[in-house]
Amino acid sequence: QEEEEELRGEVGEPRPPVVVVMGHVDHGKTTLLDTIRKTNVAAREKGGITQHIGASVVQLPDGRKITFLDTPGHEAFTSLRARGAQVGDIAVLVVAADDGVMPQTVEAINHAKAFNIPIIVAVNKIDKPGADPQKVRRELSEYGLIPEEWGGDTIFVDVSAKTGQNVDQLLEYILLLAEIMELKADPHVPARGTILESKLDKQRGPVATVLVQEGTLRVGDVFVAGTTYGKVRAMLDDKGRKVQEAGPSTPVEVLGFEELPMAGDTFKVVKDEKKARQLAELRKARKEQMEKVSKGLTLEEVFKKIQAGELTELRLILKTDTIGSLEALKKALTELSTQEVAVRIIHGAVGGITENDVMLAKASGAIVIGFNTRPDPKAREVAEREKVDIKLYSIIYEAVEDVKKALRGLLKPIEKEVVLGSAEVRATFKIKGVGTVAGCYVLEGKLVRNARARLVRDGVVIYDGKIESLKRYKEDVQEVARGFECGVKLKDFNDVKVGDIIECYEVRLEERQL
Ligand code: GDP
Repeated sequence: QEEEEELRGEVGEPRPPVVVVMGHVDHGKTTLLDTIRKTNVAAREKGGITQHIGASVVQLPDGRKITFLDTPGHEAFTSLRARGAQVGDIAVLVVAADDGVMPQTVEAINHAKAFNIPIIVAVNKIDKPGADPQKVRRELSEYGLIPEEWGGDTIFVDVSAKTGQNVDQLLEYILLLAEIMELKADPHVPARGTILESKLDKQRGPVATVLVQEGTLRVGDVFVAGTTYGKVRAMLDDKGRKVQEAGPSTPVEVLGFEELPMAGDTFKVVKDEKKARQLAELRKARKEQMEKVSKGLTLEEVFKKIQAGELTELRLILKTDTIGSLEALKKALTELSTQEVAVRIIHGAVGGITENDVMLAKASGAIVIGFNTRPDPKAREVAEREKVDIKLYSIIYEAVEDVKKALRGLLKPIEKEVVLGSAEVRATFKIKGVGTVAGCYVLEGKLVRNARARLVRDGVVIYDGKIESLKRYKEDVQEVARGFECGVKLKDFNDVKVGDIIECYEVRLEERQL
């Protein structure tokens, strides 16, 4: 039995924020990270920056720290999240002021939103002649990122990653937001964290970058990471310096793994090697079992989950050929929302279906819908591997009909009662071995053998069951119509009296209309 408690606690001491830089290609993410690192006093003293691992800690002159994850684009970030890893606290969205909002900008916004991470916008390249930071604000407002100066709650900072202008201000805002978020961790407990990246080193064996998220990791600690385990033989910080310990929000390169862990794996220190090995083996067995089951979700599985109450919305990722078709589909699909199930487009954009779309779908239990677009080979491969459903359409109506059909199947049909007929009891006969048979006259409709029936006396229902036998004279009959007399025996009921009304009815399941 393994208990996986929540990583982030409210208790503990303030910890540095972990920041993910996202944005469209060429908008300046790499340059910004380089510039930020150069402002790092410690690095400057060493004369030059050697980026050692895929994450860096920036320390301001006053000692405050920020941890940046150097994810290439936000792909690694997304796949980390897809594996359930909780890594970034804050997203910095880089938007070039001479280019404005581009497809990957929108994608980044949707990813951050899907994962519930606050966004700070860095309006970049303001040194360029064609820069229009106000246009970026206007464009982003359409995506719900309203600048504070316009009464919204998103921080916008105009920067030049190239000249370094306002980059210090950006860092200040990150720290301010972090303070508001009250990010905390207890440094005094056994370390826990997440594997950010791993590689097999020819000399050193399996090495991995661990983001410590809780507690303090020390050389000599025994740990379990994903389905592997080990003992910390040595640790290097982001600048390649040997360290003896690493506290919350610190990324460190760890040596001493038995096998290579995977990015996104959880990492935790345990009591001793025996326990570590046991846990790793347990997880391995569990993983093998899980792998037999599909990993992503097909449309049908999503519906099953919704039915089981594990999801309350149908999440879709929409990729289309034009803005027009995107808007039309968005509208048509969202309008299919019912009271029980909401249809939510978590990401919609123009363009082909990419690996990112598939990973996002997997991470959030969504279905990918392509309209006049196709998945690229990588996306196809990942979708197949992760068992994510991609539905391709070229007619809007068909896409809508499909989702509608599926949603309809999802809604429980309504049970609707239809009265077949009623009869008045005009005599009763006690028959040995059978019970009381009611001699009836059918007033309306018909009585049907084996149909459901209730007995009404003075307007009150005193029995609800079914017609066990139905006879005309001595003959068993299937049904008796209005205006005829018949003998009725109600199942398990003998208290019939003259004047009672027998109401015969059936229950039909009716599909609900969307
Ligand atoms: P990434 O793809 O988002 O990582 O973008 P890069 O950091 O590689 O930047 C793309 C290009 O934009 C490079 O040629 C950078 O030199 C340039 N660039 C980045 N930031 C700025 C800036 O603030 N001002 C100017 N003028 N150019 C920039």
